[in-house]
Amino acid sequence: MTTETTETTERRWNKPLPNIDLDNKAFWDGLRDHQLLLWTCSTCGTQYWPKCYCIKHENEPYAQNMSWQPGSGRGKIFALNRHHWAFHPGFQDELPYIYALIELDEGPLISTTIVGKQPTDLVSAVGEPVQIVYEDYAELGFTIPRFELIDA
Ligand SMILES: [Zn+2]
Repeated sequence: MTTETTETTERRWNKPLPNIDLDNKAFWDGLRDHQLLLWTCSTCGTQYWPKCYCIKHENEPYAQNMSWQPGSGRGKIFALNRHHWAFHPGFQDELPYIYALIELDEGPLISTTIVGKQPTDLVSAVGEPVQIVYEDYAELGFTIPRFELIDA
């Protein structure tokens, strides 16, 4: 048996910890399993992130007929900017980095950073297709969703 050394065990986390609570625990559990879960209405199929009520059935009790269901993990860049200054010391090593809002194929927006190939022209990067990549921090018990550019 070989000893597997993954990036996971070597990475260190020096940024703020995610706020994992009862409302979003299933979402973070999904990320650990490499699934991007979206809060889904079983009445009309509309998907949300973060967890909320279905705006098409807003008179119904919160969370009724809703459940976490896997999304595609794909979307397109809705907005982005390049950070040249770290707003938290933990991001210093990654400068400059691209902070982006991703419009998931299912509709919700999710904020993230772009990893891998970086957009050279921020204006033309709007609308570019992206997919989720999972950064595991197993020893800390969470996985961070990031996104990378893909060919259309
Ligand atoms: Zn609905």
